[in-house]
Amino acid sequence: MSDAGDTDIHQLDEDTVARIAAGEVVERPASAVKELVENSLDADATRIDVTVESGGTELIRVADDGQGMSEADLRAAVRQHTTSKIADLDDLEGGVTTLGFRGEALHTIGSVSRLRIRSRPRASGSDGESAGGRTATAGGGAGAVGTELVYEGGTVTNVEPAGCPEGTTVEVTDLFYNTPARRKFLKTTATEFAHVNRVVTRYALANPDVAISLTHDGREVFATTGQDDLQAAVLSVYGREVAASMIAVEASGDDLPPGPVESVSGLVSHPETNRSTREYLATYVNGRAITADAIREGIVGAYGTQLGTDRYPFVVCFLSVPGEAVDVNVHPRKREVRFDDADAVRRQVDSAVESALLEHGLLRSGAPRG
Ligand code: ADP
Ligand code: MG
Repeated sequence: MSDAGDTDIHQLDEDTVARIAAGEVVERPASAVKELVENSLDADATRIDVTVESGGTELIRVADDGQGMSEADLRAAVRQHTTSKIADLDDLEGGVTTLGFRGEALHTIGSVSRLRIRSRPRASGSDGESAGGRTATAGGGAGAVGTELVYEGGTVTNVEPAGCPEGTTVEVTDLFYNTPARRKFLKTTATEFAHVNRVVTRYALANPDVAISLTHDGREVFATTGQDDLQAAVLSVYGREVAASMIAVEASGDDLPPGPVESVSGLVSHPETNRSTREYLATYVNGRAITADAIREGIVGAYGTQLGTDRYPFVVCFLSVPGEAVDVNVHPRKREVRFDDADAVRRQVDSAVESALLEHGLLRSGAPRG
């Protein structure tokens, strides 16, 4: 037995604690992309350009034309538990409209990568249109001065004035350079990019009023136009054939069987436009991208035998559900939700999608439903 002063149990230093916490929030490049895109949306961006290299393991760059930050904002933004979005618990209980509110994304990403942020506040009086335009060329003009902050492994290493357009560009390089175990868990470039693509696609489809682009290793994967048209966003993301096969779903109130769902809206594909993966079921509850067995089963059930076994349509579907009917007690990173009355949700979704398919003559009447 060792004496009281000799124990193997010891306090972890702050840096180690931060890196462990980072692993919870930032699991892979796609999780960093998600946080950065949410920040851009929260900043009222009208365009967001996401650029990644090697699946995001070498570089993630998210450039927006949002509200931007002053030097003081920037310095505050990378500190832990700093947020401009809530002040205390009351704000949380009052229902937060912003996407991220934990005040830890930038700090956390920065503790496991090298982070370079350039930002310039929107000129006052500007109502959302950036003067900067699409190309974030450094240099700007007279007065076009923002700030660049470099944050490496959890420390601010440089802050200096920088010419940049209004808005914010965050660059993450060398993700997990100081957490080799986490870095080792990264999959191939193709797999990591598939995760990034899925994340950016979900935001692009949920926010057709924002022009969102994704570029991987110099190749533009998609770019939506921001014209606030879901059909147009589907065209940009999935291409002509899929877009042409989409039909509108729109049901609310008395159109729906009883249950917690207040409305179902969006687009679903012609039964013949299907894939052997659930990947293209983009479903949202109260604006948040989620997956839920009840919703998926409702959608697939509506198609009945029109879909082969393990075939799935293209779907972009938005449900509005009172908060108390959804199990919100899930990890912030988890996308899966449960409903108190899952059977009712399934029937409601099934009914909404079935009505749309019937209206377009896409279901054989009397066909057995599987
Ligand atoms: P949270 O989003 O939970 O507040 P973050 O660490 O993601 O925490 O961001 C910290 C703060 O930095 C935000 O509250 C916001 O004020 C500011 N910020 C982050 N990204 C941007 C951005 N793209 N544009 C403007 N402000 C931003
Ligand atoms: Mg955030």
